[in-house]
This record gives sequence, C-alpha cells and structure tokens, in this order.
Amino acid sequence: MTAVLSVRDAVVEYPGGVKALAGVCLEIQDGEFLAIVGPSGSGKSTLLNVMGTLDRPSSGAVVIAGHDVTTLPDRQLSALRGRWLGFVFQQFHLTDGLSATENVATGLLYAGVPRRRRAPLARAALERVGLGHRADHRPHQLSGGERQRVAIARALVHEPALVLADEPTGALDTANGVAVLELLTTLNEEGTTIALITHDRDIAASLPRRVEIQDGRIVADRSEGHPVDRPDAPTAVSRGALGSAW
Ligand code: ADP
Repeated sequence: MTAVLSVRDAVVEYPGGVKALAGVCLEIQDGEFLAIVGPSGSGKSTLLNVMGTLDRPSSGAVVIAGHDVTTLPDRQLSALRGRWLGFVFQQFHLTDGLSATENVATGLLYAGVPRRRRAPLARAALERVGLGHRADHRPHQLSGGERQRVAIARALVHEPALVLADEPTGALDTANGVAVLELLTTLNEEGTTIALITHDRDIAASLPRRVEIQDGRIVADRSEGHPVDRPDAPTAVSRGALGSAW
C-alpha cells in the first residue's frame, strides 16, 4: 500500500517548553477514513496543522506523496498543499459574496486548472455532494448542513490525495451532523482518503480507523477493532522477544 501521508516522530514545542506534540508517528494509506480523537488540549489541532503543512514541526518530518515537506520553501509548500490536500473546517469558511459554485471553484485556484474549466468542475463537485440545485445560492441562503456540503465540495474539487476535516460536524445539529458524516462515508467509499479530527468518541467509533491522542502522543491506533501495525511499534523480532505480552 502507498502511504499518502507520513508523520515521522513529530515534535512541536512552544516557547516555555510546552510540547503540543511529543513525538508522533502516523501513516495514512490511500483509501483510508480515520478519526484522530482526543480530549481538548491533547494536540489534535497541532497535529492537523502539521499534517496540513500549515505549521512545521520543531523536529521530525512530514512526508506527503514522497516529498519531505518539512524542508520545502514556503512557495513550494503552498503549491503542494493546494494540489495534494483538501481542508474542511468546523465553521465552513465560505466567502459570503460568492455563489456556491464560485466558493467551490476557489478550491481550484492553486491546482493549476485553467479558469474556463473551474466552473464546470465546481458544479460537478456540488452534484457529488447533492447540491447541484443550490449552485447559484450564496452561503447566507443555505442551511448549516448545506454550507458544510459546499465546503466539502470545495475540499474535493481538485481531487486531493487527502482531505483533512477538523470537527466537520461541530457546528451542526445532530441530524445535519449525521448527514455530513454519511456524505463523508460515501465519498470515502468512492475513493477519497479522509482524516477527521474530533473530540467526539461516538463519531470516532463509527469510523473504520481510530487514532487516539493524549498529551501530544498517540496512545491507541485501531482499525476495524484491531491494532494498526505502527511505524513506531517494536519490530517483529522484538515483539517475539516480548513473548506473550503481544
Ligand atoms: P486540541 O486541538 O486537542 O485541543 P491543541 O493542539 O490546540 O489541542 O493544543 C495542544 C497543547 O498545546 C495544549 O496544551 C495547548 O495549550 C498547547 N498550545 C497550543 N497552541 C499553543 C501556542 N501557540 N503556544 C503555547 N501553547 C500552545
């Protein structure tokens, strides 16, 4: 399997000595849908920012599609981010003066897509999230659930290798939250790789893989109920040496 993104022993230390990440290793494979779950202050946002190349770790590396992004200059970094990653935020972050189509098309600005092709691609992405009939609406004419679906279409329109969703249901009522999770599940079944950050254990429990973070460390990583073979786990030889502990 190909790792879409690898975080290798990432440490993020803030002035004063707070370690928001204390040596995190994480590999995301093509086609996965995983939750990164943990309580407030556990390091989720810091990890998301590092994975999304918005912040650089103090030490360690982040590798996306074979590129070590920790050493790339800012310009190359934003080009790589625009091509390989899609973002969905709790508060949608749509632009009020733009239609749904225009908002989605902003997801193509850094993907090298010629201007004339942007609107048709944006409309196709809106169709995918079930909002073809709202293409000309502005954000204030849409419900919260619809706004989040526009934001999801924007995150998908350039067909990123990985979508990072930060508490995507956090600003929605229960019914709309469930609908957004169902949409993300469908998109994953169609091939989109998604990492969802949440503090909500019920949401995490509903996803195929759960990575638990606490005090800046990954404390559990399970896929369909089984532990994931982790890059920072002891090797097969040392596992054998540990005998029945494994
Ligand atoms: P979460 O997203 O899980 O709530 P964060 O990643 O925001 O957690 O924070 C992890 C830890 O790092 C917390 O202890 C937080 O107080 C600390 N932290 C986050 N950002 C900063 C910062 N800019 N300066 C100092 N400490 C920070």
